[in-house]
Amino acid sequence: MTNIAIIGAGLSGLTAATKLNQHANITVFEKAGGVGGRMATRHAAPYSFDHGAQFFLARTAEFKAFISPMLTQGIIAPWDGCFAEFENKKIILKRQWVEDKPHYVGVPGMNAIAKYLSRDLNVRLDVKVQSITKKNDKWQLDDDQGKTLGEYDWVIPTTPAQQASELLPSSLSCYPKLDEIKMKACFSLMLGFEHDLSLAFDAALVRGNDISWISVNSTKPGRGKPFCLLVHSTNQWADDHLYDGSDQVMEYLSSQTSEVIGFDLSGAAHKSLHGWHFANIGKQTGETHFLDMEQQIAVCGDWFIQGRVEAAFTSGFDAATKLIRAL
Ligand SMILES: Cc1cc2nc3c(=O)[nH]c(=O)nc-3n(C[C@H](O)[C@H](O)[C@H](O)COP(=O)(O)OP(=O)(O)OC[C@H]3O[C@@H](n4cnc5c(N)ncnc54)[C@H](O)[C@@H]3O)c2cc1C
Repeated sequence: MTNIAIIGAGLSGLTAATKLNQHANITVFEKAGGVGGRMATRHAAPYSFDHGAQFFLARTAEFKAFISPMLTQGIIAPWDGCFAEFENKKIILKRQWVEDKPHYVGVPGMNAIAKYLSRDLNVRLDVKVQSITKKNDKWQLDDDQGKTLGEYDWVIPTTPAQQASELLPSSLSCYPKLDEIKMKACFSLMLGFEHDLSLAFDAALVRGNDISWISVNSTKPGRGKPFCLLVHSTNQWADDHLYDGSDQVMEYLSSQTSEVIGFDLSGAAHKSLHGWHFANIGKQTGETHFLDMEQQIAVCGDWFIQGRVEAAFTSGFDAATKLIRAL
């Protein structure tokens, strides 16, 4: 059987791995201690936060079919939240998310989806792939400790574009595209409280501020945790302040959030921060993935399409579909 190494256990990598698993020997390498990538959940007892993707929509027939068993088994559920839009610290629109366009979340956390997908896969966690080198017609992978991770017929990086360009040979025809892609940063501020703040919304888009999003994470289905908030900075503010001290960033984002909602949040019982260097990217045109039959390399990731959960799925799904035909 063909040996394939997939680099990254985010949704694009796990989608490709799940599809290819019947057709080849698959090994997924993930540098983090858990699966999910940017579909992330952080536990800070008694709180838990989805500090990456907040929810996702399912538009294509393929993605709807892919998530259908997860819906049946309660791995995902619609978040019937009350959504608000803020402009200049005022709510200008408020509506209930509706059943005909479900806003899905993982249950009990966003990373439940990746845990479910990886249950029958060979996933090696805490392994950072440092290099891939062609040796005797195979790809040899080495980790950042100088250890060899084996030889593979195919290699499929599914990391953000900048990280993929550090791994891939510059002779590859998709290399100029990798170099061109500029993903944007984002800060996630996590705030936990001893009491319910009784806000007028469950999720809010914020305009005209350095924060862009507030959600009451504890209102998502299956959380059953004390009241907690997840705040995202704008991508621009994060790009400009990525290397500022984390206390300073937390203080600033917390005070901006207090101003927007008109409630002093400085008494939060829990405060933490995550800085995403490669969080997001706007709509792209062109292919959904890259596949080089001669070099035996495929590349996928949301950034081929857009910084969205469904885009990550589509990229991994399309690459795997094409590869299966060739195997
Ligand atoms: C703050 C934030 C908010 C978001 N909100 C939403 C939202 O509300 N709705 C929505 O649809 N989308 C949202 N997104 C986007 C969504 O999370 C992504 O589109 C999707 O999760 C990307 O999946 P992926 O598999 O392409 O990449 P990733 O999830 O980034 O997976 C790549 C994986 O590769 C691993 N990796 C990297 N380098 C190496 C290496 N050298 N060796 C081994 N492993 C490596 C990483 O650790 C990671 O796990 C958000 C993202 C962020 C960051």
